[in-house]
Amino acid sequence: MSKHEYRILLYYQYVPIDNGEEFATEHKEFCESLGLKGRIIISDEGINGTVSGKTEQTEKYKDAMRNDPRFEDMVFKEDEADEHAFKKLRVRYRPELVTLRLEDDIDPLKQTGQYLSPKEFYEQMQDPDTVVIDARNDYEYDLGHFKGAVRPDIETFRELPDWIRENKDQFEGKKILTYCTGGVRCEKFSGWLKEEGFEDVGQLYGGIVTYGKDPEVKGKLWQGQCYVFDERISVPINQEEHVVVGKDYFTGEPCERYVNCANPECNRKILCSEENEHANLRSCCHECRVHPRNRYVEEHGLSEEQVLERVELAKRNQRITHG
Ligand SMILES: [Zn+2]
Repeated sequence: MSKHEYRILLYYQYVPIDNGEEFATEHKEFCESLGLKGRIIISDEGINGTVSGKTEQTEKYKDAMRNDPRFEDMVFKEDEADEHAFKKLRVRYRPELVTLRLEDDIDPLKQTGQYLSPKEFYEQMQDPDTVVIDARNDYEYDLGHFKGAVRPDIETFRELPDWIRENKDQFEGKKILTYCTGGVRCEKFSGWLKEEGFEDVGQLYGGIVTYGKDPEVKGKLWQGQCYVFDERISVPINQEEHVVVGKDYFTGEPCERYVNCANPECNRKILCSEENEHANLRSCCHECRVHPRNRYVEEHGLSEEQVLERVELAKRNQRITHG
């Protein structure tokens, strides 16, 4: 028996959903009745969610979903927890399950990369003729990634296709492997790669989180932590060793702690120590530090003088660190 009372479920299913908007409303009511919290996206092409709840609540959810023929094969990735991983429940209808906004949309049920088990992925990524492309955003990569994986220089998923086209020569003639957190983004991205003319494309089925739980590969060749979209922010993957790859935004020191820039209009994710958070008013740059609605300043009730003092200090430190 586990001593953890809560479970966190991560899941997706590409499957046609009729009247998606209506389904989203009903689904929200159903999740509320169970007492679940989390974030669920519903579109005409399927469902993608992370929810948390007490074990009996998540069990009821899984049973109900599997009783629906559309979701009977759905794979639930499951983590134990001591509390909810979300503050509230959000169920939204969106035109796409993952936002790519392609001119010709990809249906992963018709076109997608080859599914690879954690063991197959582990073996194939060590082949010198293979290139591994991280299908996630830059801030996710920066906290942790597969050793040697390519880091697309993008802030959101929908920038990925353009980035690939611009860097095409790096990948031509190679086997391409892609991976993401739970697999939902790779289904589309690998399908798109095939449409784009890349022939040999594989995707890590079940994503990084499944790879980290595999009893054989034990998360090997993963470095750092895996970014997750709930209050945990990150989860460990490599069961054998922990290499820190994250770097403090201000000093470059090893760091795995994410905060959001305190300028509400910026909100950029920055890795930094507690010390550097305070020294920099939790802000990524001078403009954000002096923003009239800086949340750090509000939270700490700093006077104008105190803010100026710290802004000056941050300026001096920045000169020291960045020359
Ligand atoms: Zn900022």
